[in-house]
Amino acid sequence: MTPAGSTRLRLLPGGLLLILALAVDTAVAADRLSVRWQPAKPRVGDVALMLLRGAPDDATVEGMVDGRPLTFFPYAGGRAALVGFDLEVKAGVKPWRLAVLVREGDARTASGKVRVAPRTFPVQRLSLPSGMVDLDPETERRAVSEGERLRTLYRTITPERLWRGPFTRPVGGTGPGTGFGARRVINGKPRMPHGGADYAAPAGTPVVAVNTGRVALVADFFFPGRLVAIDHGLGLYTLYFHLESAVVSQGDLVERGQTIGTVGATGRATGPHLHFGAHIVGARIDPATLLELGVRD
Ligand SMILES: [Zn+2]
Repeated sequence: MTPAGSTRLRLLPGGLLLILALAVDTAVAADRLSVRWQPAKPRVGDVALMLLRGAPDDATVEGMVDGRPLTFFPYAGGRAALVGFDLEVKAGVKPWRLAVLVREGDARTASGKVRVAPRTFPVQRLSLPSGMVDLDPETERRAVSEGERLRTLYRTITPERLWRGPFTRPVGGTGPGTGFGARRVINGKPRMPHGGADYAAPAGTPVVAVNTGRVALVADFFFPGRLVAIDHGLGLYTLYFHLESAVVSQGDLVERGQTIGTVGATGRATGPHLHFGAHIVGARIDPATLLELGVRD
């Protein structure tokens, strides 16, 4: 990004970062941009809202946080972007940059930092049948290519925001999802950390979409079993694994609370449960923080 004017950053109480633009290009109406984070102190694995005020209504806003692109949408009289801090990101100070483009060749840039607090994840020791862990070469190839297909999907950003308002639980009951971020040791060997939260529920329990979105994938994969992935737009995906059945098809538009399938134990599962995950522009985030996010708009 080429700055149109230099910016000075001042940290105010309450985590409010005020950006005072200097060397102002007179054509730019927004001489004051303010950025606020919700929650004010995000942790590793959290989703956060980056709230921006002061950008003109007709401006295009682009930006990056810690190397990941931001996708802003109109929100509560200003703009917001969902930011995911991946479960394996290092805690500490992460830089962000914004470019506010009023028209061709007329850009205002701003930058700052957000501190990501550390979080301790549990270590989970599991014993599984060796056939589910030590894969033969053909199964290994299958699992790798399925994993790549999912990662490609998570990095595909639909430019339209489909979700609105708060997120709902994917299954009934009140118990929290468990095991997000757990560093897994399976049959004595360290494996990939657990990228979602597991909800215990009997087989056949309805599973619902947590917000409005489009069904991006319905598949039968080796580790996730029968799965549904929902694209909520702007880089947000939610995932529902180990399903007994899926009652939606790829391309369907689903509403918050709409049944998409039932709990099962397909794929690598020790018993019936829902594995629920959420990704933001490829960052694996704690879905509980998505459900708790105080969304007003
Ligand atoms: Zn799981």
